[in-house]
Amino acid sequence: MNRSTSEQLYQEALQHIVGGVNSPSRSFKAVGGGAPVFMKRASGAHFWDEDNNRYIDYLAAYGPIITGHAHPHITAAITQAAENGILYGTPTHLEIKLAKMLKEAIPSMDKVRFVNSGTEAVMTTIRVARAYTKRNKIIKFAGCYHGHSDLVLVAAGSGPSTLGIPDSAGIPVSLAQEVITVPFNDLDGLREALATWGDDVAAVMVEPIVGNFGMVMPKPGFLEGLCKQARDNGSLVIYDEVITAFRFHYGSTQTYAGLDNHEDITPDLTALGKIIGGGLPIGAYGGRKHVMEQVAPLGPAYQAGTMAGNPASISAGIACLEVLSAEGVYEEMERLAITLTEGLQASADRHGIPLTINRIRGAFSTHFCNHPVTDYEEAQDTDGEMFASFFRHMLNRGINLAPSKYEAWFLTTAHSDADIAATLEAAEASFAAMAAG
Ligand code: PMP
Repeated sequence: MNRSTSEQLYQEALQHIVGGVNSPSRSFKAVGGGAPVFMKRASGAHFWDEDNNRYIDYLAAYGPIITGHAHPHITAAITQAAENGILYGTPTHLEIKLAKMLKEAIPSMDKVRFVNSGTEAVMTTIRVARAYTKRNKIIKFAGCYHGHSDLVLVAAGSGPSTLGIPDSAGIPVSLAQEVITVPFNDLDGLREALATWGDDVAAVMVEPIVGNFGMVMPKPGFLEGLCKQARDNGSLVIYDEVITAFRFHYGSTQTYAGLDNHEDITPDLTALGKIIGGGLPIGAYGGRKHVMEQVAPLGPAYQAGTMAGNPASISAGIACLEVLSAEGVYEEMERLAITLTEGLQASADRHGIPLTINRIRGAFSTHFCNHPVTDYEEAQDTDGEMFASFFRHMLNRGINLAPSKYEAWFLTTAHSDADIAATLEAAEASFAAMAAG
């Protein structure tokens, strides 16, 4: 496959844009380096690059594009918003409409505030939790990604009863000391951390279904135990549902039928992003009324935004949720994902390639290993070189995956049986080539 234009553009991009990309996850560093593919057009489940090669897309722009690219209903909503003027700096009726849709789907959110990214949403939930509890520390779980704000770019110390260390240059150690990281699915680790630092823990934050070291379900009882331990300690529970909300059903993890005891797993605050903007920049956070009333102009916790709640993002979000609210949408994505994952597993098995697939409805992750993946350590303990080889074989056969062994594959409402069949054909050829060395 000739990608010479992408290679040229990458060389040019390197002159002007740091690292040639506007988000490090787009670089091919984790899959052996070289030029990422420069896409020029997308429609439905397909991409075309600058050399006119066609790809079937499972990246879905890291999650927001759940209705496929250039969905006509969303495109019409954005066009209408542009014609009406793209930014007012005043409230609009559209914001109320999307807020009501979110509240209806995620009942734990009595009050909502729109921001511009998942990073902002998470960052603000932490501020609100600190304002409400008048405590400083946050407990998070290893491998969960919560955006690029200072506090959540902190890695584990040597155990749950040690404080964090900065995961990025430019984050003061003093800030990292406000964060404790424990393994996902580990209630004993959480108990130990709370026993050590509990008096000062403002919130326990989690991706309730993990999307950032593959797709990983909470073990039965994990979310119940987490919520109970946090509450008993006077700490708030924050769910980062930036990936998960509207991913598996029309709602969030808190209301997902795959998990029982919704009452017992209800968070105090929820952070949203991605899907709720239909592909335009957005974030939102919300939660219990008296917690949210900490936020300015009602309360002392400040948060603001020139672009927040802009009519284009809000209109795209409303249109996206309208598409997703149709009967059978999630069942169809799941049906295709089952065919795809069963086929991938059979193909890998046929060629002696170790493969563990974690699938939750229409989203799944492929781990090159022979063991289950239930926490970050197990996700790290997988064959990155094998993933890189698979990634490149698939790309060369017209299948676009995320260039990282930790990212998920996302089905969209635009994928078809023909796309799945073509993907399985590419996978069979890729595994065969890998097995042949
Ligand atoms: N939280 C989670 C769970 C995410 O997956 C991401 C982004 N992948 C973020 C927060 C940050 O969102 P954004 O990139 O919109 O800032």
